[in-house]
Amino acid sequence: MILLDGNKSSKARLEKLKEKVSAAEKKSGKKPGLAVIRIGEDPASKIYVGKKVKTCSEIGFYSQELHHSEKISESELLKIIQSLNQNPKIHGILTQLPLPKHISEAAVIEAISPEKDVDGFHPINLGRLVAQQNGFVPCTPLGIMNLLVDNKIEIKGKRAVVIGRSRIVGRPISLLLDHAGATVTVVHSQTQNPNEMISSADILVVAVGKPHFVKADQIKKGAVVIDVGINRLADGKIVGDVDFESAKDKVSAITPVPGGVGPMTICTLLENTWKSFERT
Ligand code: NAP
Repeated sequence: MILLDGNKSSKARLEKLKEKVSAAEKKSGKKPGLAVIRIGEDPASKIYVGKKVKTCSEIGFYSQELHHSEKISESELLKIIQSLNQNPKIHGILTQLPLPKHISEAAVIEAISPEKDVDGFHPINLGRLVAQQNGFVPCTPLGIMNLLVDNKIEIKGKRAVVIGRSRIVGRPISLLLDHAGATVTVVHSQTQNPNEMISSADILVVAVGKPHFVKADQIKKGAVVIDVGINRLADGKIVGDVDFESAKDKVSAITPVPGGVGPMTICTLLENTWKSFERT
């Protein structure tokens, strides 16, 4: 069984990126810049943004954390985004979700210039993904594809099943697997007889957000399993959507939680920001 180690893969990728950043800075005096907007006091958002900013500094990126009270109005937030769109030191902009209810998530995402939308959530970038044009692809799904590539997992001709169809994970990963030559089935909360599909998967991606949602008896022997879920149990332990302990002896490859998809997401955010920097 191959453990799809996101810590190892992201470390190797970030080391390469660090070298490129240092070389670019020596040559031009410029470096990639990421602005992360955080609204309110959501504890998970604080942790995620903290990790993003820390990784930026380790790799040599310029970064700005813009933290505002949840009382900020939508128009004030849009003005901040407009000024970041114009800022030549900033190549990537993201607003940590969720936002307070009085602010439209769609308006905020659409205010970010598609050329700085390193989260890949802007409709223009989602359209580019569907059209297989060069744009920014959401970080978690692209990170999953990179993890598969780094571990030389064959995708072409395989039967892939994605459980979940969110805009952030399920839908884009189903498109990416399709583009890579897999035959993809998407399972969601309305799917009838999901087990028939799940048990046929050569590659199974689970992005539901329910602890141990998939058990070993549902998985095809030798399948490659990608567990996107991050669930905190009552005792504080973090577990995925797949029952790792029972699944690990049946699969050919599987991501651990934590240490699988999570580190790839941050790594891809920096790779996307580098891509934006390189274009300038
Ligand atoms: P989400 O927006 O809540 O979407 C969950 C999806 O699961 C929906 O499409 C839903 O179907 C489907 N679903 C719910 N119950 C189901 C059932 N009984 N059978 C089949 N499908 C079912 O969640 P998300 O944002 O995609 O996140 C999923 C998980 O990944 C969460 O644990 C999240 O924390 C984690 N995550 C991890 C990372 C990372 O970096 N590792 C990044 C993002 C998210 P419907 O569409 O029909 O409602």
